[in-house]
Amino acid sequence: MATGVKRGSARRGVSRGAAQVRTTARQAAATRPAKQGSKQAPRVPVSSRRSGVCAFAAPSEDTAMAKPAMVELPKTPQDIVFVAAEVAPWSKTGGLGDVVGGLPIELAKRGHRVMTVAPRYDQYSDAWDTSVVLEIMGERVGFFHSKKKGVDRVFIDHPCFLAKVWGKTGSKLYGLKSGADFVDNSKRFRIFCEAAIEAARCLPFSYGEDVTFVANDWHSALVPVLLRDVYKPSGQFLDAKCAFCVHNIAFQGRFWQDTWDKLGLPDSSKEIFEFDDGYDKVFTEDEPDEEDEESLKELGLTYAKLNWMKAGFLSSDKNVTVSPNYAEEVVSNPSKGVELDNVIAEAGGIEGIVNGMDSETFNPLKCKFIPVRYGPQSVAEGKAAAKEALQAELGLDVDPAAPLVGFVGRLEEQKGVDVMLAAVDQIVSETNCQVVILGTGKKSYEAKVKKVMGKGGRTAAVVKFAPRVARMIFAGSDYLLVPSRFEPCGLIQMQGMAYGAVPIVASTGGLVDTVKEGVTGFHMGALDPDALVEEDVQAVAETVAFAAQKYGTAAFEEMRDACIKQDLSWSEPARKWEALVEEMKAVEVEEAVAKKESVATPVAKV
Ligand code: ADP
Repeated sequence: MATGVKRGSARRGVSRGAAQVRTTARQAAATRPAKQGSKQAPRVPVSSRRSGVCAFAAPSEDTAMAKPAMVELPKTPQDIVFVAAEVAPWSKTGGLGDVVGGLPIELAKRGHRVMTVAPRYDQYSDAWDTSVVLEIMGERVGFFHSKKKGVDRVFIDHPCFLAKVWGKTGSKLYGLKSGADFVDNSKRFRIFCEAAIEAARCLPFSYGEDVTFVANDWHSALVPVLLRDVYKPSGQFLDAKCAFCVHNIAFQGRFWQDTWDKLGLPDSSKEIFEFDDGYDKVFTEDEPDEEDEESLKELGLTYAKLNWMKAGFLSSDKNVTVSPNYAEEVVSNPSKGVELDNVIAEAGGIEGIVNGMDSETFNPLKCKFIPVRYGPQSVAEGKAAAKEALQAELGLDVDPAAPLVGFVGRLEEQKGVDVMLAAVDQIVSETNCQVVILGTGKKSYEAKVKKVMGKGGRTAAVVKFAPRVARMIFAGSDYLLVPSRFEPCGLIQMQGMAYGAVPIVASTGGLVDTVKEGVTGFHMGALDPDALVEEDVQAVAETVAFAAQKYGTAAFEEMRDACIKQDLSWSEPARKWEALVEEMKAVEVEEAVAKKESVATPVAKV
């Protein structure tokens, strides 16, 4: 098979399961906002209780960001089934798990009946065996159940999940290594999608067929396909609707065409999957993405594949993504849409709803990992104690006067880790900042982080998936660095803000919707989608220096306060999701549209 000519760094985002897309970081800005400090502001897009009204309990004085509000509940409660490969806290490799963990709880609070369906990767001690067993694709599939915070959590039981992942870390859901997915992922998630549809009607607490499914990312893309091409033509799930929500368009589920026969779908469905790309691999264990391999689509050769995400877009009733700005980006050109921009347009476009954040588990007033709990009224004292503890734990100089810059995230090109590492020396030599990195990811970046960091009491790194350390960093950092090449929504910056860390972000995707220049953070402009360029290294270093100059001033304290006071919970986004479901089910359409319009993105709120 032809390998093609070497071609720089156009090889990004090959993880989070069957990415099979090497061009992914190319979806970052086509137009680059000017670099900081901030000479030019970033582009901001134009952008049993089943009904009635209730007030949630009044929070303490220090929770000004969560004022008790009269919550108008929906007149027509819906049955909603979220289908996803991850659901926090049971399984999570990133934001997808957080969203499927948090959004359903808020929808349930609003009076809807909500179920999530995810694979059973482990022996979850809180989920009971429903004893329901179905035969799907010739295999015995079981269903486990847990009910927490009003949400039915269903787990699909089959050895292709449990036997492969049990005992491994949460990051091994899709393959043992980044860029080397399990060879049977097509089979695993084919079984999963059908089981998820059946979960709506086969379990003792049956929702029935008249539900709204929300399928998430490529792993659940067969849900809308099966509904449209298999169930509905045979008179089943006739009134069901399905939204398809994209959390990261870089991970599309591209497979070789010879996997088609095993999907058990009608031949007439094949067309919506067909997709040519320039890559001679699909990045599985058999054909891994070699981290130092440079040979990519150079010779103009194309390879016929199946693309699950493409089929998901073309068969769902509604396409959604996790921020309005990302929704604009993915249809703007093939690079940002990772070659699916035209498909989305053909499918009728895509709507963006900014993610909320789990304000229970990322909450300095309740956090059990920090030395002193704090809220908006006590943020200065609380953060000072957390900073001291973090510096001591990570071997940094214990220095309250040194602005502490934290990073938490996957060590991948998407997150701009290479750019950040190239800027660290300059940050340390030209400012009095300290820099802390927490992350896991590509082996080469893990090694580089260990090599670059840990010097002179000014830099430190933890190469682990460590929720406790993440909270310590959010609480102990003065600034949170998010130099992503692209970022569909980004939760890190919101989690940081919730702990009063001021974000310093690249101007892309949801970072534009959630961080307001000079008010809740600093923008550095958009980074090069592919390459490590000096201009970007300077942008990171200069923006950090610009932000650090403000440290200790009244202006900085105002920004920190603005960050921690925001309501970044799921409460508002859930209203928008509710309106979207109502719109799809054609109930109270006008009211639904008005409800959606009344929900502002975070930058419009502060
Ligand atoms: P993505 O989904 O692209 O990885 P997000 O910002 O949307 O990025 O979500 C990442 C989630 O994973 C956040 O909840 C963040 O706190 C968490 N996270 C990322 N890396 C780590 C780590 N090394 N340890 C603990 N939590 C992490």
